[in-house]
Amino acid sequence: MTKDYYKILDITEFSTIDEIKCAYRALARKYHPDIAGNSPSIIAKFKEINEAYEVLSNKTRKADYDAARRFYSYAQNGASKKTNTSNTCTDSNINQKNNFDKKNYNKKTFHDKKTNFSFNWEELFKFSHTNENRTPKKGEDIYSDVEISVFEAINGTSKVINMLQTTICPKCNGRKFVNGGKCENCNGSGETSIYKRFNVKIPAGIKDKSKIRLAEEGEKGINGGKNGDLYLTIHIKEPKGYKTEGLNILKTIPVTPFEAVLGAEIKIPTIKGNVALKIAPKTRSGQKIRLSGCGIEQNNKIGDMIVTIEIQIPKDLSTEEISLYKKLQEISNHNVREI
Ligand SMILES: [Zn+2]
Repeated sequence: MTKDYYKILDITEFSTIDEIKCAYRALARKYHPDIAGNSPSIIAKFKEINEAYEVLSNKTRKADYDAARRFYSYAQNGASKKTNTSNTCTDSNINQKNNFDKKNYNKKTFHDKKTNFSFNWEELFKFSHTNENRTPKKGEDIYSDVEISVFEAINGTSKVINMLQTTICPKCNGRKFVNGGKCENCNGSGETSIYKRFNVKIPAGIKDKSKIRLAEEGEKGINGGKNGDLYLTIHIKEPKGYKTEGLNILKTIPVTPFEAVLGAEIKIPTIKGNVALKIAPKTRSGQKIRLSGCGIEQNNKIGDMIVTIEIQIPKDLSTEEISLYKKLQEISNHNVREI
């Protein structure tokens, strides 16, 4: 038994429903986050009071809880005390207890669906008197991935990411109830999931598979414990059509047959922005042009951009263009295959 709801509300098992209500109202007023403050320990205390009231104010749930509580007390006292206590117990109490043992032990677990409070009967015997469940516990760490381009990795960038996080319900402030009714926003759980937006700064020169840690942006801590951390693994993707070789960037550039023959000046995108590239007359397909200093900059070194020229025939040639190629064929007597 990890929680004593009677102790939480400072009442006894024999308190009437009016006494339960009265105790709950007094404590709810005292520990209301609007009055007592929004510290994690106050919110946890307030949630505990509500949880205790939810169970003890409901006849069926109270009966189940009482049965579990009696069993726990029985298990804790042990069979050796049974003979001593039997003097003070009426026969009906003992019979009730025995019937309960047979009925519930087979169930193996006690579970209250609404508060999600459960435990295994077998675990009861292992349970010690320490308040283990009250110990502040760090929330779980969350891991996610962020994809960036080579250029972003070199120059540094910032990325907006959205992470789903569990947080205290903003409508009921973790109280589970609004105006006496179950909070509809969180369905009475006191918690809600929201997408939290982060603007993550990625430093220049970051390596592939590097991790960025966002402290305390992971899962919520338990019982006032610290939140977990959020770890982002950086994945560097080569942009489409580009390859890297050490500090050099490799790129194939298509040109038309007449640009290759007559020469041209074309604009190509580089790490330093668009650069005018001169194609000399009679440039061959496969010819390489080096753009000095347009590669990757790292540790005070800078690579080049190496452009490979590829002659490409335009897809939709007009009739006029075809006839001009025919004319070219008639007047041309070159054999490009001769050795
Ligand atoms: Zn709520």
